[in-house]
Amino acid sequence: MTRRVIWWIRRDLRLRDNHALVAAWETAEEVIPVFVLDPGLRHAPTRRRAFLLSGLRALDEELRARGGYLVVREGPPVEILSELMRETGSTAVFAEGDVSPYARRRDTEVASRLPLVRMGWPTIHPPDALQKEDGGPYRVFGAFRRRWWSLAIPKIPPDEAIPSRWRMPAGIPTLPLPEIRAPEGFPAGERAAWARLRSFVEGEEAPIFRYRAIRRRVDGEAGARLSPYLRFGMISPRQALQAALEAESRAPDAESRRSVRMWIDELIWRDFFMALLYAFPDLRRRSLRPSWKTLSPPGDDQDLEAWRGGRTGYPLIDAAMRQLAQEGWVPNRGRMIAAFFLARHLHIDWRKGERWFLENLIDGDPAINAGNWQWATGAGLDPLSTLRSFDMIRQARQADPHGRYIRRYLPELAQVPDAFIHAPWMMPEDVQREAGCRIGWDYPRPRLKAAEGTEAQNRG
Ligand SMILES: Cc1cc2nc3c(=O)[nH]c(=O)nc-3n(C[C@H](O)[C@H](O)[C@H](O)COP(=O)(O)OP(=O)(O)OC[C@H]3O[C@@H](n4cnc5c(N)ncnc54)[C@H](O)[C@@H]3O)c2cc1C
Repeated sequence: MTRRVIWWIRRDLRLRDNHALVAAWETAEEVIPVFVLDPGLRHAPTRRRAFLLSGLRALDEELRARGGYLVVREGPPVEILSELMRETGSTAVFAEGDVSPYARRRDTEVASRLPLVRMGWPTIHPPDALQKEDGGPYRVFGAFRRRWWSLAIPKIPPDEAIPSRWRMPAGIPTLPLPEIRAPEGFPAGERAAWARLRSFVEGEEAPIFRYRAIRRRVDGEAGARLSPYLRFGMISPRQALQAALEAESRAPDAESRRSVRMWIDELIWRDFFMALLYAFPDLRRRSLRPSWKTLSPPGDDQDLEAWRGGRTGYPLIDAAMRQLAQEGWVPNRGRMIAAFFLARHLHIDWRKGERWFLENLIDGDPAINAGNWQWATGAGLDPLSTLRSFDMIRQARQADPHGRYIRRYLPELAQVPDAFIHAPWMMPEDVQREAGCRIGWDYPRPRLKAAEGTEAQNRG
């Protein structure tokens, strides 16, 4: 009898460097690729869902080019998978591990009823390999990073590990995937992910060689724009690391090499936050710094609404928040400044901002988002993040020196002269008239709480 297994796809929408898929092919003669539209997905934010669905279409096309196809079903995973195993005579389900509490609960339930084989992780190193000698998790990035580099760079399976002719039974009933377009600027799928990575690391003038400089900016290319692809595993972080190490070996000078290392650091931060969520399933709900308190006097709902809607009166914050609403994506520096502002200037609980980001980001990821929120606001444990002095106007000038980013997302400030673009409330009356932007009318006055109370406490 033909040995047949299911490849259960979750956040690994790719054929290459996929440990679960390689293991499935090593075990069986036929592999059935399955995506289960979990009822919970109906509530997923529209843009992220569109990116996922469009990525599933791209994966289906790749499979069809090899003679296979994607089986899509909707319902509770454990029910759907048992049904499919019965229908197709499959003997096991292969899937990549995941770190979120929801995914782990789901997988435990499936594993209690079906032969589920978990292989690989959405990280470079497995989260359980990145623990201290006493078995506990790292809470501070520096020590985590040292441990990370002490491990051998993981090997990527050769492309030939996946057969070029896909073998699976014909005619398994599948739901049609809706004709949905990926969000603007992010064509979905493994091919698009590779095109994005290559354009970042290849060639003598590769942007990765300038990363140290561009990462502080919001007004142009700030990075690889790879995060949505990594979020859904259209490319693996190991492949990104390998491409970066190859770029490093061709780097024309020391500055370029430093830039490559800094980009690799971002991939390590990614592993760090994944390992943190794995160790602390309540990372989204609880500040890792036990003494952390929201500053007083607390911000109110109007403050939160102004922040969400990009109407705080601080142009860089407002531009970032409007970009988030319009595009579902914001460069890292914009996210950092907006997060810091919510918690440290408007005195609003970081978890409210975290939720809003997660609802709106195409790359929204519970581990990376919550981890960054904790670190950017000082609720995390790394002492650096709380001791950092953060002059918002200076940060804004550095991130968008000519106000190009601000003018793009805040058309009401289009005519404001460069000198006032980061602090428009300083414009004299006649300049406001000339710029067609009256403060308090066309653009809000700056919103700020008096810093007092627990600020000093949180620095401790
Ligand atoms: C408040 C806040 C919330 C965030 N929420 C998310 C989120 O939900 N999902 C998400 O993927 N990223 C999140 N980030 C991290 C970061 O902003 C994005 O990963 C980055 O902007 C993506 O752009 P890029 O692909 O050009 O990154 P690059 O600068 O090119 O970096 C390459 C990759 O490294 C990883 N990376 C980069 N910066 C970080 C970081 N600070 N922490 C962890 N991994 C990083 C990403 O996977 C990224 O694609 C958040 C950052 C902040 C400050």
